[in-house]
Amino acid sequence: MRCNLHVKILVLNSGSSSQKIQLYEIGAALPEHPPASLWEGKIEWARNEAEVSIKTLRGAVDKERVAAANRSVAVEHLLSRLWSGEQRAVESPRELDMVGHRVVHGGPHFEEPVIVTAEVKTAIAEVSAFAPLHNREELEGMEIIEKLLGNVPQVAVFDTGFHSQMPLEAAVYPGPYEWWAQGIHRYGFHGINHQYCARRAARLLGKELAKLRLVSCHLGNGCSLAAIRNGKSVDTTMGFTPLEGLMMGTRSGSVDPGILTYLMRQQNLSGEQLDELLNKRSGLLGVSGISGDMREIVSAMKKGTERAKLAFDIFVHRLASGVGAMAASLGGIDALVFTAGIGENSAEVRAEACARLEFLGVRLDAARNEGLANEKPLRDQDIALADSRVRVLMIRAQEEWAISRSCWLLQING
Ligand code: ADP
Repeated sequence: MRCNLHVKILVLNSGSSSQKIQLYEIGAALPEHPPASLWEGKIEWARNEAEVSIKTLRGAVDKERVAAANRSVAVEHLLSRLWSGEQRAVESPRELDMVGHRVVHGGPHFEEPVIVTAEVKTAIAEVSAFAPLHNREELEGMEIIEKLLGNVPQVAVFDTGFHSQMPLEAAVYPGPYEWWAQGIHRYGFHGINHQYCARRAARLLGKELAKLRLVSCHLGNGCSLAAIRNGKSVDTTMGFTPLEGLMMGTRSGSVDPGILTYLMRQQNLSGEQLDELLNKRSGLLGVSGISGDMREIVSAMKKGTERAKLAFDIFVHRLASGVGAMAASLGGIDALVFTAGIGENSAEVRAEACARLEFLGVRLDAARNEGLANEKPLRDQDIALADSRVRVLMIRAQEEWAISRSCWLLQING
């Protein structure tokens, strides 16, 4: 067993329009609470430009715009800032012990985090057909690391992994049974954060994870729910792709599949056009015609814009009915967790969803819920009234920390 006293772990998290990179250092034991990262870099793409921002543990912040027609050029540039320039965190890339990658779709083969090998890369590439927006970028990230850091151990952590033991009744679609053998079934996503939230919820509540029934609401640009019993995912709203389930910023979530066949027949829409319609022009943006960003929806709603109000109402209607469905899969609910951009920051969404869930025993503390907006930094906490049967927790998403933790565990356990 190899056990360095301090391990420096770099984490790459690629999204469709952003790339986050964080550096963590973990000692001989895992800390009780998620530590701050030593260095944090982010790239956000807009047309042919990339906005690069860097934050160090000492609080230094730097922003620059770089021309970035090519995604990998921008990623290489950001990585080079880790060991060069004023905001560098290490003197040389050789100081990095491991690199972890978030891989969105593990397909049927991957559950647990794995060391990246040529075979693993081939298998991840084969799954690209399931998640065309993601897996290719993640493979590109692995190749950039190989180019810049040689043979540093790289680990792939899968967003589908946490859901891979779901009962068949939740995982198998009621289409032809052959779908199952063809890998067409519910995979579920956001698993890295749902699993992290489950562990964190147990710690905040001072209870054993094995005794809790949790519904985790990951509400970011993508939104999904997970029903978690004994620390295991038993149901989730996203499916074969991250398009199923809740209404999202620009994604529709679940719609009648008959609408798709109708549009194919009546308007001759192709697969690509349907993909674009459902992924980029639906959800909050599609209904409101204003934006896919919940902040703008709430602000337009407060000014009396009807379609913004409708978009908000559909969002919370589907959120509350989804939580009800998850509670039914669990046979009851002990705690509801709100996490990710909207879950952490929108007092309006939390308040409206909880009001609709009072029949389950959810009673939100309105003052605490609203008070979160003034907290800096935002602390994970219970925001239910003392007599609420169901606890309501706000937990900050910490995907990069969860990935570096998985890397550390993989190293410790050999
Ligand atoms: P991603 O899924 O890309 O990681 P985030 O978890 O950061 O995204 O969530 C992004 C979303 O969070 C934004 O689109 C926005 O709708 C929402 N958001 C961020 N801050 C607020 C806020 N103060 N109020 C409401 N929504 C917010």
